[in-house]
Amino acid sequence: MTSPQISFRPYRRTFTNALRTSRGAWSVREGFLLRVEAAGRIGYGEVAPIPEFGSETVEAARSFLQSLAADPSQPVPEALPCCAFALSRALPTKESVMREYAVAGLLPAGEEAVAVAAEKTGLGYRTLKWKVGVEAPENEQAILEKICQTLPEGVELRLDANGAWTEAVLGDWLDFLQAFRGRIEFIEQPLPVGMERRMAACSDGSGIALALDESMNGPEATKWLDEWTGPLVIKPLLMGDCQSLLDRLQPVASRVVLSSVFETGVGLDNALCLADALQGMNHAIGFDTINFSDNLSGRKSSAFLRASERLQLDPEELWKRL
Ligand SMILES: [Mg+2]
Repeated sequence: MTSPQISFRPYRRTFTNALRTSRGAWSVREGFLLRVEAAGRIGYGEVAPIPEFGSETVEAARSFLQSLAADPSQPVPEALPCCAFALSRALPTKESVMREYAVAGLLPAGEEAVAVAAEKTGLGYRTLKWKVGVEAPENEQAILEKICQTLPEGVELRLDANGAWTEAVLGDWLDFLQAFRGRIEFIEQPLPVGMERRMAACSDGSGIALALDESMNGPEATKWLDEWTGPLVIKPLLMGDCQSLLDRLQPVASRVVLSSVFETGVGLDNALCLADALQGMNHAIGFDTINFSDNLSGRKSSAFLRASERLQLDPEELWKRL
């Protein structure tokens, strides 16, 4: 058998507006598209690292991709989960039936969220995700009150603190949120990696669901996949070989919240193919992440990702734009 031919192209994407999170501002997203040709088939994968979430760096990925292009037979080192995902997804061995997904609308941090929440619910979004831990808790709680006043019936909020809160701040928020319980789907990673037991206790005590995100890319990720009883935010592009990931996620599929790493349409396509194969996943997916000053997202913002729209996503077309 002839070995596959592998090539890659780097991209550098500028956010239309820098993304504000509790970690600071993020304005440029760098990564790679991968093209794999084997046995007459051509496929595309994406390497989109976020080292802050435990993945390899862009430089480490680049250096491996260079050697992989020269020698495609070599295995992907364990320390390069983004490269492993891209390679395993580029030429899928099984095809799944394409499904339709509700998308969680992304709100900007701070006061601006109020107007964007109204705009997104007008566009049909039923779940909104808001970055918190960026401003002082009292400011953010006042903003949340305003958002909730205008939210249509049945629309839910996800708050994402990116591990920025202390236990005291979390306790204060959980008290505050009791009046809005019906509105809160869950809070994503309120406390830092390593404080999972405290988060579990706080969730039990408050009746408000807490989701793990950063912990799912931390040193004990496998353990939390087995032991955590709340929602699990899964960023597939950071999580290594796709089939092995699928096997690990299937038993907890109903609690999986699939989430973006600000990838292009190629990575989106890769991630959705995994979602299609994951039976029982029902949370809105966190892929409202296309605010870049280029056309590599391959789609427009919309509250649902329908098969008709997905069929228009053409990885080859995106590859040629680089
Ligand atoms: Mg998160």
